[in-house]
Amino acid sequence: MSEQWIFLNGKFVRKEEAVVSVFDHGFLYGDGVFEGIRMYEGNIFRFDEHIARLYESAHSIMLNIPYTKEEFSDIIIQTLKKNNFQNAYIRVVVSRGVGDLGLDPYNCKAPSIIVIAEALAIFPKELYETGIDVVTVPTRRNRSDVLSPKVKSLNYLNNILVKIESHIAGVSEALIMNDEGYIAEGSADNIFIVKNGVIKTPPSYIGALEGITRNAIIDLAVKKGYDIREDVFTRHDVYVADEVFLTGTAAELVAVVKVDGRQINDGRPGPVTNQLLTDFRDIVTKEGTKVYAQNSVQAG
Ligand code: PMP
Repeated sequence: MSEQWIFLNGKFVRKEEAVVSVFDHGFLYGDGVFEGIRMYEGNIFRFDEHIARLYESAHSIMLNIPYTKEEFSDIIIQTLKKNNFQNAYIRVVVSRGVGDLGLDPYNCKAPSIIVIAEALAIFPKELYETGIDVVTVPTRRNRSDVLSPKVKSLNYLNNILVKIESHIAGVSEALIMNDEGYIAEGSADNIFIVKNGVIKTPPSYIGALEGITRNAIIDLAVKKGYDIREDVFTRHDVYVADEVFLTGTAAELVAVVKVDGRQINDGRPGPVTNQLLTDFRDIVTKEGTKVYAQNSVQAG
């Protein structure tokens, strides 16, 4: 495999040299924000939305990113070009930076800025054909009035506990409820259910990240003429749904075929799920920000 170049604090370094200080508050306190972005065949999907969410997350925690959105977008594009990627998962991290052992962020001189682009290890193909089993878990989603789930912060312990609990239950993904018992989202995905032709996804204010894949799926569903609504629902509604699926940058759109041991419908990905996945796969290679000039030939 060829060298992997990482953007770290103003320059490109090799993967082996891409290290940050143990005094970085991202490491010491989870003080920072991040994004997960995806490039399909040279097109960055919903790039501006990811950048906007990154800046909103940073603004919310009073972290000043020392680049304009355009400059930062260009850094990400340069990272992709440097690695000669056509398909990639991109992780952008902005931490509070190096400080002392106290948690006061005002002692951190400058944010640490990291862009990692990786050739994507996509979920196995079978997963999209068979769907996945999930469970609901004891850990609840952060309340929106505590650390808002809309902030894509480096503090993912809430989601990590959920992941641990799903493994304990013998599956790899879980549904998280909010403190009122409404289904909020998956550990790193948004959730949709389909019942009698109506598609529902929880409003983000109940405790979900406003997923960019979620928004894309809503747009596709509207375009297809589906009745799609933001609405709250409980575990019971999920158990008796006709179809259930999760969406996320990494997962794309994955059917859920069993929840807490209850088979969903006939236990196979349903027609709405399959249709939306097909439509999604169709737009990701066509839409988006082009990284390479259209007629240049690139390896990767
Ligand atoms: N919820 C959480 C908690 C996540 O981490 C993610 C992944 N970013 C999502 C939902 C899905 O969001 P997106 O479609 O923007 O990747």
